[in-house]
Amino acid sequence: AAHQQSSLWSEYQAGSDEAYLRRLQILQALPEAIERRDLHLHYQPKLASASGQVLGVEALVRWQHQQLGVVRPDEFIPLAEQSGDILRVSRWVVETALNQQQLWLEQGYKLHMAINLSAVDLQSEQLVEFIQAQLQQRHLPPQQLTLEVTESAVMADPQLATARLQQLRAIGVKVALDDFGTGYASLAQLKQLPIDELKLDQSFIRELPTNSQDQVIVHSTLALAHALGLQLVAEGVEEAAAWQLLRDFDCDTVQGYYFSRPLAAPELIHWLQQQAPQ
Ligand code: C2E
Ligand code: CA
Ligand code: CA
Ligand code: CA
Repeated sequence: AAHQQSSLWSEYQAGSDEAYLRRLQILQALPEAIERRDLHLHYQPKLASASGQVLGVEALVRWQHQQLGVVRPDEFIPLAEQSGDILRVSRWVVETALNQQQLWLEQGYKLHMAINLSAVDLQSEQLVEFIQAQLQQRHLPPQQLTLEVTESAVMADPQLATARLQQLRAIGVKVALDDFGTGYASLAQLKQLPIDELKLDQSFIRELPTNSQDQVIVHSTLALAHALGLQLVAEGVEEAAAWQLLRDFDCDTVQGYYFSRPLAAPELIHWLQQQAPQ
């Protein structure tokens, strides 16, 4: 709590009263939001780049508060990490996403599920057992779950993260390194990380069709990923031209507004039904 207060204090000194007040209100409202089930999940499709076949979805948390309005995850997740509430948020996300995956399976939709975890989750001694128990309760195959952790979360404590990711892979789940290219992992560290997938940060994809530097970065990151036996996911694909380049480069998986925004579960099924059979 002391850490939380001091970092809020320095933000207060740097920023406006209004922003400071909003952060305090978010921190105050969050525990209740988890309890009252005010959080929701949206799901964004992940597709095979070459065929356009839908492989699965990434779960992304949403929060609409009566007074505060829409509170974006990149606004409240960092605060929840500071306050420790993130552990309860993550537990709720895992339970809700796996319930949804199981429901879809019963309805005949076999979709891979990807869930975001934070650095704080990786520190938890209970994480691996919790995930395993949640999968077993629902008879869900662990191979159909990917846990996404950001490169910077891993780099916050590479030794601990490596051990935890190894334990997670030992129970059969997949691991993706999110926001890759923004977190300063060295090549030596990358080589040793127990991961299955690199998710190249959106900032390299947005202007891909027109930015030749991004093209070089994406192309060489793909070569690197494949040389290390990793799948490469490009997120933030917003244009057909970006997808075309990614296919030319032999990128494995694509995700972005060009295909679909994150959608509530019923809309996602509707979207799936609209997809022409590949
Ligand atoms: P992320 O994991 O890198 O997720 C991708 C973000 O980019 C999502 O924003 C998604 O809606 C957005 N996005 C996807 N395609 C496009 C595109 O083509 N163009 C643009 N401009 N944006 C696109 P969102 O949902 O607001 O989430 C932001 C971040 O908040 C996530 O980044 C993740 O770091 C965090 N987050 C979201 N849900 C969770 C969660 O359940 N747990 C944790 N720990 N973090 C979460
Ligand atoms: Ca992610
Ligand atoms: Ca990302
Ligand atoms: Ca991000």
